[in-house]
This record gives sequence, structure tokens and C-alpha cells, in this order.
Amino acid sequence: MARPDLETIQKLLEHPVRLAILAGLSDKAMLTTRDLAAKTGNQPRSLRHHLARLRDAEVIITEIHDGRHHHRLADAAIAGALKPLRMAARPNEMAGILCGQHLGGDLGDAITRAMVVRGHLENSGTTLVLTDRGARLLATIGLQQGIAAGSTSRTCRSSNPEPGHLGGRTGKALLQHLMGLGWLTMDDRPVVVATARGRTALANLLGIRV
Ligand SMILES: [Zn+2]
Repeated sequence: MARPDLETIQKLLEHPVRLAILAGLSDKAMLTTRDLAAKTGNQPRSLRHHLARLRDAEVIITEIHDGRHHHRLADAAIAGALKPLRMAARPNEMAGILCGQHLGGDLGDAITRAMVVRGHLENSGTTLVLTDRGARLLATIGLQQGIAAGSTSRTCRSSNPEPGHLGGRTGKALLQHLMGLGWLTMDDRPVVVATARGRTALANLLGIRV
């Protein structure tokens, strides 16, 4: 099989969506079209054409398992060549970690901290109480079911001692909702990162860079 030449690869990288696809595929990971869509903040249907071009150029390989398309980089040399690209594409990526059924780690702490600072959560030290303002914020993003102002959740400090992150029922509901919106993804479970769409949304909503 002929290796794609540099010129071919450069041409392929001229498109931002293809750039995002390649940046999203890490060395060994195989991602479904849906995973890649979440990771790059695109709709699956808008990725298909670009995936076909990358496949035709033998930059990526697609395998079908259980009726789903799984994509990976064609070989280690391509993965190595793309490493600086991934760093450039995600310069300050903040990772979270699945903590029980809610979001912990730096990302979980950052979201919780921003919600406390902005008055969405009231921090009593051991519990976090959803304020009216917080309930309105969650309603804005479509999370209303069962989460009302005054809901109390424990502060979980399993990842970083301070400020801790939102655990309990609200924490679980929030994580599920943000995953459902395609703002967060768990491709490398239990690691949770924000998608491109999620980074923009969290910056607008909470003023945080993740
Ligand atoms: Zn936790």
C-alpha cells in the first residue's frame, strides 16, 4: 500500500473539519463517527464526506463493528506526524474524570467553581445548594427535570480537595445532560473532556476556558 505523500496530507489538512478529525484521533483510539462528531463539534453527516477523503488517501482506516463505522489513524508514522497538530488544536485542554456518576477532576472543579462564583451554587463547605439563579441557568440549557432551586448536593472532594465539585443527584444529572448536549465526551473513559462545541458553550455560559 502506497503511503500518502506529504503534499496529499497537506491538502487534506487545509480543511478545518478534516483538521479537527485528525486532531481528534489519538494514537491508538478507534472512534465511531458519532464519537468524532461529538469530539469535533460537528454533525455526523457533515463528517462523512471528509472521512471518505481521508480514507481514500489512506490517512485513516475505517472498520465496521456491530454496524458502526470505527475510524483510526492508518499507522504510527501518521500518528507521530499529527502529534504537534493535536497540541495546537487543543492548547489548554482541561480534563475531567468520571467520579462515581458525576464529573470530577479539574474540569469538574472548574465548572463547580464558576457556578459558585457566579451565584448558581451556594457553598456551605460540605454541601452545594442550587440557587434560583442556578435553577434558571440549568433551565436555559434544557435541564429542568427534577432539579429545582434549593436542591442540595454534597461537595465531593475526591479529586482535588478545594474547591471540590458537584456530586449527588444534581452532579449526576448535570454530567448526563452535558454529555447529551454533546458538550462533554468520554471517549477515553473515565476521562471526560469538552468537545469544541462544549468549550465554546462553557465559555459563553460560565466564562471558563476548558
Ligand atoms: Zn466526585
